[in-house]
Amino acid sequence: PIRVRIAPSPTGDPHVGTAYIGLINYLYARQRNGKFVLRIEDTDRARFVATSEQEIFNSLRWLGLTWDEGPDLGGPYGPYRQSERTEIYREHVQLLLANGTAYRSFETPEELEDLRQRQVAAKLPPRYDGAHRELSQSQIDAYLAEGRPYTVRLKVPVGDPAFTEFRDELRGVIRFEHSNVDDQVLMKSDGFPTYHLANVVDDHLMHITDVIRAEEWISSTPKHVLLYKAFGWQIPRFWHMPLLRNLDKSKISKRKNPVSLIYYRQAGFLPEAMINFLGLMGGGMPAPTTESTPTQAATKSSETDIFTLPDMVARFDVKNIRLGGPVFDLTKLKWLNGEYIRALTPESFYKTLRETILSDAYLQQVAPLVQTRIETLGEFGNLTHFLFADDIMPPAEVFVPKKRTPEETLAFAAEQLTVLEATDWTHEALEPALKKLGEEKQWSVKENFMLLRAILTGSTMSPPLLESMVVFGKSRTLDRVRRFLE
Ligand code: ATP
Ligand code: GLU
Repeated sequence: PIRVRIAPSPTGDPHVGTAYIGLINYLYARQRNGKFVLRIEDTDRARFVATSEQEIFNSLRWLGLTWDEGPDLGGPYGPYRQSERTEIYREHVQLLLANGTAYRSFETPEELEDLRQRQVAAKLPPRYDGAHRELSQSQIDAYLAEGRPYTVRLKVPVGDPAFTEFRDELRGVIRFEHSNVDDQVLMKSDGFPTYHLANVVDDHLMHITDVIRAEEWISSTPKHVLLYKAFGWQIPRFWHMPLLRNLDKSKISKRKNPVSLIYYRQAGFLPEAMINFLGLMGGGMPAPTTESTPTQAATKSSETDIFTLPDMVARFDVKNIRLGGPVFDLTKLKWLNGEYIRALTPESFYKTLRETILSDAYLQQVAPLVQTRIETLGEFGNLTHFLFADDIMPPAEVFVPKKRTPEETLAFAAEQLTVLEATDWTHEALEPALKKLGEEKQWSVKENFMLLRAILTGSTMSPPLLESMVVFGKSRTLDRVRRFLE
C-alpha cells in the first residue's frame, strides 16, 4: 500500500510551500488508495514556535487537505510528533554505533569553530575533517568516563564506491561524490536527533513508500540513502518537486510574495481558489484538449485552469509534472480568486463574507477600537475601512515630513519590518520593541508611530495603532509594510 507524508517543522507561520507539497502528496495518496500522513518535525527547539503546529493543522484543513494519520488523529505508527520519539532515535543511534556506520565525535564547539576558521582561511569548503572517525576504543572509553559531551556522526564511506546514487522519479539517477558529503551530525550533544536521522528513522518506521518533497532537499538525499543502507532498510521512492518561484524566478520569499497561509485566509482568498492555484504549480494536470473540456467557453484558455480538488484527484498525473520552477504569480491567483467569487450564489457570497472578513469574531474586536472616537455610527466606516480594505496607500505627507528624506523614511520602515517580524503579536511585546528601535535610530516616538500608522491605515489619524495592528493580525500588517517598501 502506498503511504506518503508531509513533515512540516513548526517554526513559524504555515508556508505556502507546505500546502503545495501537501497537495501533491494528498493527490498521490488519494489516487492510489494510499495513506497520507502528517508528521510534525519539531526537533529544532531553537526555532520552535508554540502556535505553529495548530496553525499548520488549521491551514491544511482550510484547504481541504485532510490527512489519515497525524499528531491529532493518531494512527498505527505514532506518535507523529518527533519530540515524543526521542527514545526511538536514541535506540537507533545505538544500532549505528554498534555496526560501525556512525561514530562519536568529541570535539568542543570551540574546536569545531577553529577548524572552520582554518578551512575558510585556506579557501576550503568548511566541513568536518573526520578526526574522530577512528578513535581507539580505549580513547572513546576514556572520553566517556570523563563525561565529555559528544555528537554522533554518519561515517560517510571512503573508497569503493566513492559516491552514492539514487533515483529521483522525476529526474532519473542522481549521483553525489562522497568527497562532497559531510559526516553529518545525526545526534546532537543534548541527545536530540538532527533532521536527517529523525526523518529517515520515521519514514522507515511509518512505512513511507514515497518521499515527495521540495527540490531543496535533494542535497540531503544522499545522506538519507546512506542512512537507509547503514540500517539495512529498503529505500523509498524519492520525488523532488520544483520550488515555487517569485516573478523574478528566485525562490519564493516573504520579501516578494506573502508566503504565510494565514495571510491568504485573512486577506480573503477562498480555499477553493488557493488549492486550484497550487494545483497549477508544477503541472501535474493534463494539458487541456477541446474534447476533454466540458463547456464551450473552454476555448478561452482561462477556463481550463479551473478545477476543484476532486477534479485534481481524478486527473492529476505525475507524468505531467514540469520541472521548470513554477512562478507563484499573485496576479493570476487574484484573477482565479475573482472567478471563484463570481461563481458563488449571492447567498453563499454573503455567507462567505460573514465567515471571513465580516465574521462576528472580527467585528467584535474592531468595535471597541472606535466606540469612544465616533459621533455617529456612520463614522464607523470612516475610521475602520483600513481593517477591511486591501490596497492601502500611505498619504503623501509620509514622504514630505520636515526632518526626513524619502530614503531615510524607507530605511526606517525596513527596520520596523525586521523588528515586527521578530516580535510576538501582542501590545505588550510590540510597544517596547518599536520604542527601542526608535531610540536606537533616533526617531521620536511620534515619527516612529506616525510612519507605521500611515503605512497600515493610509491616514495620519486612526484608532490606536498597536491595538489596530493586533486586531488586523501579523500577516496582513507585515504584508502592508512589505508592499510599502517595494
Ligand atoms: P527560509 O526562508 O528560512 O529558507 P523557507 O522559506 O524554506 O525558510 P520553511 O519554513 O523552511 O521556509 O519551509 C516550509 C516548507 O515549505 C518546507 O517543507 C520547505 O521545503 C517548503 N518550501 C519552502 N520554500 C519553498 C518553495 N519555494 N517551494 C516549495 N516549497 C518550499
Ligand atoms: N521537516 C522538513 C521540512 O520542514 C521535512 C522535509 C522532508 O520532507 O523530508 O520540510
